[in-house]
Amino acid sequence: QAKSLGRGRYVFFDESMREQLLASMTLEQELRVAINQQQFELHYQKISNLECSQIIGFEALLRWQHPKKGLLTPSEFLFMAEETGMILEIENWVIEEVSRQLLSWQYGSEFDNAFIAVNLSGRHLTQVSQLSKLIDNIRKNIALPQRLILEFNESAFEQHNEQALKGLRKLKALGVKLALDDYGAGLSSLNFLYSYPFEIIKLDRSFVRSLKNNEKNLSVIRALHELGQDFGYRLVAEGIENEDTLQKLHAAGCEFGQGYYLNRPVKIIRDDPSEDDNKHYA
Ligand code: C2E
Ligand code: MG
Ligand code: MG
Ligand code: MG
Repeated sequence: QAKSLGRGRYVFFDESMREQLLASMTLEQELRVAINQQQFELHYQKISNLECSQIIGFEALLRWQHPKKGLLTPSEFLFMAEETGMILEIENWVIEEVSRQLLSWQYGSEFDNAFIAVNLSGRHLTQVSQLSKLIDNIRKNIALPQRLILEFNESAFEQHNEQALKGLRKLKALGVKLALDDYGAGLSSLNFLYSYPFEIIKLDRSFVRSLKNNEKNLSVIRALHELGQDFGYRLVAEGIENEDTLQKLHAAGCEFGQGYYLNRPVKIIRDDPSEDDNKHYA
C-alpha cells in the first residue's frame, strides 16, 4: 500500500517536472516568434501632477498579444525574456515604438509636451555592446531626448555596480532623464538617491499601498521629498488606488503619481491622439 503510494507520488512529481520544462520551452519558442512577428504592443498609463491633475507624461508598459492566450502582461513572460536575453531586443523595439508615439504627438496635440517613460532591463547597462546598441537606437530615433525617461529598478545595480553607473552616465549624456523604479520595494539604499544620476524616484506600489495603515511611511515620503530638493530628484508615486492615498501623498510632498484611481494603462491608437483632431483629416 505504502509502496504504491510512494510510486504514485514519484510519477506525479516526474510528470509535473516534465510539464514545467515543456511549458518553459514552449514559452521560449513562442517569445522568439513574437519578436519576429511583432506581437508586442505598448499600453500607456498617464502620470499626473497630483496638485492640479494635469497630465505630464505616460509610462509605456509592455504587452504581448499572444495568438492563443490573448493579451499577456509582463508577469507572464518577462522572466523568460530576461533569462534568455530576448528582453534586449524587445526593448530596442520599445524605444522605436515610443519614438513613433512621441513623433505623432509632436505637432498640435494636447500631449506635445508630455514625456514617455520606458522600463529597461539592467542588462543594457552591464553589457557594453548592448549599451552601445541602445545608445545608437536612442540617438537615431528619439528626436527630443528630454521627452524620454528611462526607468531602471534596483536589481539593475546589484552586480557590476561600477559598470552600471558608467552606463547610466552615458545614457544621461544623451539628454534623456533617468528614473529609479520601485523604490521602497526592496532594500532601497539611500545610496541610490545621491550616488546615481536619477532625476526621478518612483515610489513602489507596495509602499504606496501601505500608507493606508502606516502613518510612519508618510514621514519617510516627507523625508525623501526633502532630500530630493538637495539631491535633485523628484518623486512619482505608483499604484495610487484612491483619493485618500492621493491626498496623503500630495500632503507629504510627492508631486506626481499614477495609478488605477487616475487611470488604467490603455492602448493608444497612433495618429489619433484625440477624436476631435482626427475629424479634420476624415
Ligand atoms: P512597473 O514599472 O512598476 O509598472 C507599474 C505596474 O503597476 C504596471 O504593471 C501597471 O499596470 C501597474 N499599476 C499601475 N497602477 C496600478 C494600481 O493602481 N494598482 C495596481 N495594482 N497596479 C497598478 P504591468 O504593466 O503589469 O507591469 C509590471 C512590471 O513589468 C512593470 O512594473 C515593469 O517593471 C515591468 N515592465 C513593463 N514593461 C516593461 C518593459 O518594456 N521592459 C521591462 N524590462 N520591464 C517592463
Ligand atoms: Mg516602471
Ligand atoms: Mg519597472
Ligand atoms: Mg514600478
